[in-house]
Amino acid sequence: MAKPYPYFVSLNEAIGLCQKTSLNMESETIPISQAINRIVSSDIKAKVNDPGFDNSAMDGFAVIHSDTTSPPAQLSIIGSSMAGTTESHTLSSGQAIRIMTGAPIPQGADSIIPIEDCTVSGDKITLKTPSKPHFIRKLGENFAQNQTIFSSGETMSPEKIALCAAAGISTISVFKKIKIAVISTGDELKSLDDDLEHGQIYESNSYGLAALIEIYGHEATRFPSVIDDLDTLKQTLNEASKTHDCIITSGGVSMGDKDFVRILMEQEGDIKFWRVKMRPGSPPIFGMWKNTPIFGLPGNPVSSHVVFRAIVGKWLTYLTNSKDINNKTTHAILDEDIKTQEGFTTFRRVELFIKDNQTFARLKGHQGSGNIAGIAMSDGLTLIEPNELGKKGDICKIILL
Ligand code: AMP
Ligand code: MG
Repeated sequence: MAKPYPYFVSLNEAIGLCQKTSLNMESETIPISQAINRIVSSDIKAKVNDPGFDNSAMDGFAVIHSDTTSPPAQLSIIGSSMAGTTESHTLSSGQAIRIMTGAPIPQGADSIIPIEDCTVSGDKITLKTPSKPHFIRKLGENFAQNQTIFSSGETMSPEKIALCAAAGISTISVFKKIKIAVISTGDELKSLDDDLEHGQIYESNSYGLAALIEIYGHEATRFPSVIDDLDTLKQTLNEASKTHDCIITSGGVSMGDKDFVRILMEQEGDIKFWRVKMRPGSPPIFGMWKNTPIFGLPGNPVSSHVVFRAIVGKWLTYLTNSKDINNKTTHAILDEDIKTQEGFTTFRRVELFIKDNQTFARLKGHQGSGNIAGIAMSDGLTLIEPNELGKKGDICKIILL
């Protein structure tokens, strides 16, 4: 019987269907020291030039270049300029000023001679080699005052945080974190504090999913895992939907009798799609639970992780119009045939290696979707599109992990 919602859609269709659901994204101002992974919500302009003044890129001597073209020229040292000095020096022909990296360039100087290119004797230096007019870092050569250094959608990295500080910016406007409830389901799941009995496993998905959510700049609440019981699940989803902007569950979305996330969504949720043509991770469900978007991810550890990256992460970046920071990719030549299925997007776990100056990818570990060790030790995931075959020798896109 035909389902009353899109069923077994392509990955692109799934991503598109998610984008029909939006969240009201608000902004807040935070100190840059707390900005790692946060997403900028309005343009950031530099308060100062960088550098703010011409300065030396080397420890050495500031000189007039035309004095130094024919060694062994001799110059008189008339003073020194250290980093942090607010004094200004002036230099005339035949003179040199001792200078340290980062110190302001004296007036009249247009070249720095590195210390190792001359010999120093008393207050004289003698050149060993002809100089070049170089090693001067020019005012504003990195960025200019009032220049937009970041636009809305930028995800803050350590380097970008340092750039804000260099530009004199102490606070920035970012999107408020989306509050995401992470709920694992399954009778077999035990917390790390418990002793395992035969047939039980440690609940692990929520830890990986929460870490992914953090990398995407949002906030995860890991709920205690829920037993396979319709009422308990319903109560937990109700509670989560009152206190969170979005719910992610893992487990219980396949065809089994105890796949209660799917069963409950069919009974009382608003399903936007169920099942996606991707390997691994074909069972996901997406929809609304009492006005709260809910992603039902598969329970298999590799699948839940891959589906997050392929679908949930795409939606999160869509909401903030940001780049998918988690989709850093490269290309590699396949070192072996990869199992694919027509119409499916294939994410196999691979390691990369270099041979004859070319990057190759080969499968890492067995490819069962329960093998979290395999993905944890891989360099990347293949991104084999539905129309590609994944044959040995093909050039393949790799999502770096
Ligand atoms: P399910 O999707 O509920 O049928 O679960 C598929 C497989 O994933 C089963 O082997 C489960 O034991 C395992 N699994 C489900 N949830 C988790 C979890 N949170 N952590 C680790 N493994 C899980
Ligand atoms: Mg289960």
